[in-house]
Amino acid sequence: MISQKTIDEIKLAAKIEEVVGDFIPLKRAGKDWVGLCPFHDDKDPSLHVSPRLGIYKCFVCDSAGDSVKFLMEHEKISYPDALRYLAEKYHIEIEEDKKELTPEEEAAQTEREALLAVNSFAEKFFIEQMNETENGRAIGLSYFKERGFQENTIKKFRLGYCPEGWDTFTKAALSNGYKLEYLLTTGLTKQSENGKTYDFYRGRVIFPIHNASGKTVGFGGRILAKGKSDKVAKYFNSPENPIYHKSDILYGFFFARKSIRTKDNVYLVEGYTDVISMVESGVENVVASSGTALTDGQIRLISSQTKNITVLYDGDNAGIKASLRGINLLLEAGLNVKTVLLPDGEDPDSFAKSHRDSELVEYLEQNATDFIRFKTHILLQGANDPIKKASVIDEIIATIALVKDEVTQTFYVRECAEIFQVDEELLMTKLRKVVWKKLNTAKSGQPSTPTTSEPAQKQELPSPNKQSPVQRTKPEPNTIESIEFIVVKLILQYGLYEITVEHTAADGGSTYQPMRIDQYIFNEFASEEIHFQNPLYQTFYEEYARIAEQSKSQEELIQNFVNHPDKSIQNLAIPILMDENPEYSKIWKSRYDVFTFSTDNNIEKLNAEVENVINFFKIRLIEERKKLLIKLLSDDQSVEIQQSIAKRLSELDQMRKYYADLTRTVITK
Ligand code: ATP
Ligand code: MN
Repeated sequence: MISQKTIDEIKLAAKIEEVVGDFIPLKRAGKDWVGLCPFHDDKDPSLHVSPRLGIYKCFVCDSAGDSVKFLMEHEKISYPDALRYLAEKYHIEIEEDKKELTPEEEAAQTEREALLAVNSFAEKFFIEQMNETENGRAIGLSYFKERGFQENTIKKFRLGYCPEGWDTFTKAALSNGYKLEYLLTTGLTKQSENGKTYDFYRGRVIFPIHNASGKTVGFGGRILAKGKSDKVAKYFNSPENPIYHKSDILYGFFFARKSIRTKDNVYLVEGYTDVISMVESGVENVVASSGTALTDGQIRLISSQTKNITVLYDGDNAGIKASLRGINLLLEAGLNVKTVLLPDGEDPDSFAKSHRDSELVEYLEQNATDFIRFKTHILLQGANDPIKKASVIDEIIATIALVKDEVTQTFYVRECAEIFQVDEELLMTKLRKVVWKKLNTAKSGQPSTPTTSEPAQKQELPSPNKQSPVQRTKPEPNTIESIEFIVVKLILQYGLYEITVEHTAADGGSTYQPMRIDQYIFNEFASEEIHFQNPLYQTFYEEYARIAEQSKSQEELIQNFVNHPDKSIQNLAIPILMDENPEYSKIWKSRYDVFTFSTDNNIEKLNAEVENVINFFKIRLIEERKKLLIKLLSDDQSVEIQQSIAKRLSELDQMRKYYADLTRTVITK
């Protein structure tokens, strides 16, 4: 267990903009930073990062939290792992609460951690076997060297070798205290029907697979003797398990991230050897999908770093058609897709090997074709008759319809018109029809296209009263709710500030006493039995009372709201906390033309502001009550009731006047 002291230290040191910035390009926006939210399919930067509050918040999908939460969500790692990551990043030594833990105990905090520990042990073991045993060097290391891999690349990708023999690795792992259960779950060890255990990767060279934060989550093992037996697969890969979700992994991503960001482009290749050979040739922004069609998770990883992807295709052409569909997902995710077709018979691995570094880079740059052109070219092969050509056009238009950006769409349509020598306007009409159809199916709640797993509502529908996401949580101005919201804001932003409150003693004399704003508001509410009408605000109010009592500092209080278990409270509090320039006085100014308030730490003004907020709140409540009464009046009522209502109304009028006068007094004070 990481000690509380260390946790505090880590949280204090962690700079949210740096932590998030390691994964997502951020731009300054006033005191905050903004970037594309990695937790939903984001097009405009809606992730706000507030250094002051130490939190991130997405104003579209509502994900929010501190540095630790970000890492847990983004990297899919556990709480302790997130803390460890930060400790490493900020060079903080971790102090464990319990004294001596066995390697197994330490790892067994959770199954995930245990599995990661097993993999980490295995990775080290395979590296040692390859470099420090005679067989390892003669068989494993020499294989990689024959492939042309350099020493430093072998080290970088942590390549290794699992020795021949039945269970060299399994034995070593067991004798180091790792449980068989975990060895089986990670797939490193297999068990035959008679219970005998053996190394899954025996006699294979090892490509460890790392997740986005560099943790070893799986392995690929390649057989050494080529073509010896067709029955045995060339590659063995880890099975799905709690730490290895194939669909969320891109091979090489951890090593490529920085380069992807600086180059603002990523190359997508097929597998391990392609990635490594390209890196060795100086192209570091390269990842592999490991044979499968790209998944949403993988696409999210990519688009967290760049909007530009270049897909490399082998020169043999086989399988290209099948893979074209996968590209649709990339387009739908708003990525700009380019393709490079390698020369006949070459794959990225062989091409990188057989050409000088500069030639590879040059080839990639010169042959990058936009996807629509590429797809057209591929589909047109062999399509000579007009009917086939027309169906190709339809398919290309369907693809263009997936492109998110309208300008890009128009550009593609123009290009398509040129290729097919058809009228641009005609294609435009076709495109509009497809888009229209998609929108309609999305509206009626049917899945938009079978290839996407996005909910149908996510389709961009034209919306006449589209509000900026930040305003979403704010109520309509000049309603009782809006004043309630102001009170909520006031409590949250300034609750712990002190104001001076007039205190009337029993003898009629008055003294001035300092009082915390939250306390003042609570007193006022209690004495007049005021409740929030909006249930969420009422819950907030009650939660605030609880949290304020427990919190030792404003930071702690803020953190309690930022990480509040009730999502609706979080969503209410975070935008308020992130908003440094309260806007409520503007509403007042227009409504009552009383005064403007600025929060430039002017305590006197704050004093006035608080009293005014409360008074206006009361005035609004009175007005609400009056409205109700007037409604009653107009109905058929007995004379007595009418009189009593009229009496009550005039009382309310007096009260209203009283509070209105009070407000003015405060202003002129
Ligand atoms: P060879 O030396 O015969 O070219 P290779 O190891 O380069 O073999 P290929 O058959 O060329 O493998 O495979 C193409 C790419 O896909 C390589 O990068 C390889 O690492 C990867 N790959 C092949 N099979 C698998 C598999 N089953 N799982 C994951 N990646 C694979
Ligand atoms: Mn190959």
